[in-house]
Amino acid sequence: MRATALAVALALLVAAPLQAAQPTRIDQPSLDRAAALRTQALADPTAWQVLESLTTEVGPRMAGSEADARAVEWARAKFKALGYDRVWTEPVTFPKWERRSEAARVLGAHAQPLRVTALGGSPAGTVEGEVVRFADLAALQAAPDGSLAGKIAFVDYPMQARADGSDYRNGGGIRWAGPSLAVHKGAIGFLMRSAGTDTSRAAHTGGTRFEEGLKPIPAAALSTIDAAQLARLAALGPTRVQLALDCGWDGQYTSQNVIGEITGSKRPQEIVLIGGHLDSWDLGTGAIDDGAGIAITMATGALLKPLKPARSIRVVAFANEEQGLWGGRAYMQKHAGDVGKHIIAVESDFGADHIYGFDSSARDLQPAALAQIQQVLAPLGISWMPGKGEPESDIGPLTERGMAWAWLGHDGTRYFDLHHNAEDTLDKINPQSLAQNTAAYAVFTWLAAQADGDFGSAPKPPSAGK
Ligand code: ZN
Ligand code: ZN
Repeated sequence: MRATALAVALALLVAAPLQAAQPTRIDQPSLDRAAALRTQALADPTAWQVLESLTTEVGPRMAGSEADARAVEWARAKFKALGYDRVWTEPVTFPKWERRSEAARVLGAHAQPLRVTALGGSPAGTVEGEVVRFADLAALQAAPDGSLAGKIAFVDYPMQARADGSDYRNGGGIRWAGPSLAVHKGAIGFLMRSAGTDTSRAAHTGGTRFEEGLKPIPAAALSTIDAAQLARLAALGPTRVQLALDCGWDGQYTSQNVIGEITGSKRPQEIVLIGGHLDSWDLGTGAIDDGAGIAITMATGALLKPLKPARSIRVVAFANEEQGLWGGRAYMQKHAGDVGKHIIAVESDFGADHIYGFDSSARDLQPAALAQIQQVLAPLGISWMPGKGEPESDIGPLTERGMAWAWLGHDGTRYFDLHHNAEDTLDKINPQSLAQNTAAYAVFTWLAAQADGDFGSAPKPPSAGK
């Protein structure tokens, strides 16, 4: 009995915060409006026009490059042209990295060029050495310290295509951690098979970071085809490669988070935040990463403006996501005191293929309101997938400080064919999918803005180490 009584008391205690929350509900006129909005968005050309404009007029827009400033001006002008009520910028300062030239070649009896691209954060340098191939990061980790003295580490992991992109944990993990690990083993250079799922000669770049106190070494990714070629050559016998990179850090740069807002008609101080990142890598024109996210969310705000949403719709075009989440962290630092006013946030940074899943941090707190939203999303082919989602990158820092989030998950099966390589261009975007994405964002954003009640945003202290 005693144990039962204790269990009941504990259950009540645990349940107390949930019971204290008022159930958030959405009224029928707003739900009816959402259904009409869904139909309208599927036929609306705004997202495509925004994406075409960004990828054509600005093109590649690597953080800190000349095009970074043009992208900021483009975003400011586009928000205004789309009728946003308020448009402003907030500064984001970060170290600037430049790519100038990159080449690799096999030396000796089988001499031939290899297609490579420098990893963002790599130093300049020309190194020559025997290549030592590893199947994955664990194999490189297992090599004794010092065993790669004078050699070039080559991590040859073939990333697998999956709808949820989950193998990027391995592929991207090699890119972030591999170069430092190679230094620990004594290597003079680092090569990896691109963290990509395509079969092409387009190498995939992306950020890396050397551990504090280590002497950085030239680090680059081979195209998947060139990686396979180098693996065959290495299997024939000792293979020497020359890697010649001219790239590196060059001072500090200040870019901007560009923000457009549709002012709420009833609760203007309360914000539904949506967005994507404005920067891209330099090899393609950043159509899937992340021009699509900018286009989907800018078009969403424009679609909602005539409906006079109750809450404010804030669209953030984040600066420099690619080289370390600089824009998302700057936004968090500036707005951490206003977490409670950010009712919920959702970000698009996983391409423009079909959105198939919906999830939210409020899944246990406000199931009824989320079920109402899900009902309007369902005809778009979107399923409720509790526990499957997570906040996208730029909104991550503020969600760690207590902001509620939603996830509208894109099918990522094709995403890593194009991610961070020269093939990430407008022609890879399916206009119907982009319209479906915009319809999903418009429905979600409208209903979150109309909801009577919140989704659990509440300030949390910074966690240790953040
Ligand atoms: Zn991205
Ligand atoms: Zn990216």
